[in-house]
Amino acid sequence: MIITIDGPSGAGKSTVAKMLADRLGFYLVDTGAIYRAFALFAQRQQISFDDEAALAECAKNFPIRFQRLGRSIQLFLGQEELTRQIRTPAISEAASRVSPYESVRALLLPLQRKLALEGSCIVEGRDIGTVVLPEAEMKFFLTARPEVRAKRRKQEFDIFGMLAPYHQVLREQTIRDDRDAGRAVAPLLQPADSIYVDTSNLTLIDVVDHMEKLYRRMFKNESSLGFFLTEEEKRD
Ligand code: C5P
Repeated sequence: MIITIDGPSGAGKSTVAKMLADRLGFYLVDTGAIYRAFALFAQRQQISFDDEAALAECAKNFPIRFQRLGRSIQLFLGQEELTRQIRTPAISEAASRVSPYESVRALLLPLQRKLALEGSCIVEGRDIGTVVLPEAEMKFFLTARPEVRAKRRKQEFDIFGMLAPYHQVLREQTIRDDRDAGRAVAPLLQPADSIYVDTSNLTLIDVVDHMEKLYRRMFKNESSLGFFLTEEEKRD
């Protein structure tokens, strides 16, 4: 059983995916972390983000390793565990610079598929429902207004102690959004068979409740077992 969650940054994907994975007892696969890890590796090799051939060569020698930690997956570059170093604004930017290249994506794609086939899981990213796992049983597309997303990202940076003024976060987010949605290969777009969720005016708990309810209704036939539907939902 695979649930995909695609959407732009700051839509709440990571938090929601983690909570939903805990509730359903699923594994969690964060594909953005793989692009981030690759960007860090390429940056350390001093490869220009404009040089597709060199990046593709670098992707062939990408020493990424994965280790399960509870429901999540820990990433390692060789022996080095990746945590905060892939969560900086600079690496967010770098990941979106290396990700448009078809040759790079082609080399990172099998890693994502392999992780997703290890058990029931929630896989989040930009092109999961469209390209990586088009056969997934359930797909969500999470989004929110740009200002709301930028505010959430700023809060995340604050938690990590990284200084990033709101307007800068919003500006950089807009550039990344345009790059992710505008690229020729596997752009960010809503899968036709996905459930659209605008999280702007919802708490992330509300979002998870909604998604869990839909999942149980579709796959566990639980609408009569404690999940009380509103009149509006019954008409859907
Ligand atoms: O989700 P996250 O912000 O960690 O992703 C970082 C970047 O990695 C995105 O801006 C996007 O360019 C790239 N990415 C991608 N395809 C995915 C996941 C992430 O192109 N499935």
